[in-house]
Amino acid sequence: MMKPYLKLEGIRKQFGDTTVLNNVNLDIREGDLVTLLGPSGCGKSTLLRCIAGLTDLDGGQIWLDSKDIVSLPPRNREIGMVFQSYALFPNLTVSENIQYGMKMRGASREARCKRSDELLELIDLGDKRDAYPQHLSGGQQQRVALARSLAVQPKVLLLDEPLSALDAKIRKNLRTEIRDIQKKFNMTTIFVTHDQEEALILSDRVCLMNKGRIVQQGTPEELYTAPRTEFVAQFMGSYN
Ligand code: ADP
Ligand code: MG
Repeated sequence: MMKPYLKLEGIRKQFGDTTVLNNVNLDIREGDLVTLLGPSGCGKSTLLRCIAGLTDLDGGQIWLDSKDIVSLPPRNREIGMVFQSYALFPNLTVSENIQYGMKMRGASREARCKRSDELLELIDLGDKRDAYPQHLSGGQQQRVALARSLAVQPKVLLLDEPLSALDAKIRKNLRTEIRDIQKKFNMTTIFVTHDQEEALILSDRVCLMNKGRIVQQGTPEELYTAPRTEFVAQFMGSYN
């Protein structure tokens, strides 16, 4: 494999006596969309939070673009994150939400507005720029959350089940939109889901997790057609 853009090595995390991440190793190439797939409770969100710096590691190393980022605070890691439930600021307009991170980093008003308008056009919500989040649908709120995380031009985008609170039809449309935007920006992305269909459709590579470990990784085809264990076969639906 080419030199990885994001590299995780020997990641360990415990909560009390429970080992939640048990020696996780993962290499991701620049511009790839990798899904982190696995049953509820297997450690997906914890892994993303460790990468983003929202949770401290108990062991292991993380390199991003050849830089060791473990000791950096979240805001200096150049990582964007979108959560399952829309974490927009309710008291800020759509445009203000998108500009928030840029404002914190001292970008000029002019630069912020320009970037915000570009992103609003990209997510097709130009007419909602002055609306408040409560007046948007769930799918619209997630598109704004995506735009907000892209606004600061992160090196990596972490998406933690961004579609699972939405109903089926909107979920399908939005996943295509996310894929299009990810490709357009060549944005290195980790997409967490517990839905194997979503993983098969979206990803360049799939990492299947179980009980704090990555049990198999490869292309969607590899996991589907050549599962290495019974667990992988069952989870990927290879027998159907
Ligand atoms: P997933 O996102 O795959 O559903 P999580 O990473 O949220 O899994 O959780 C993995 C395990 O770690 C679960 O058993 C969960 O209960 C536990 N866990 C997560 N966060 C904490 C925490 N802050 N304190 C204690 N246990 C936690
Ligand atoms: Mg989770």
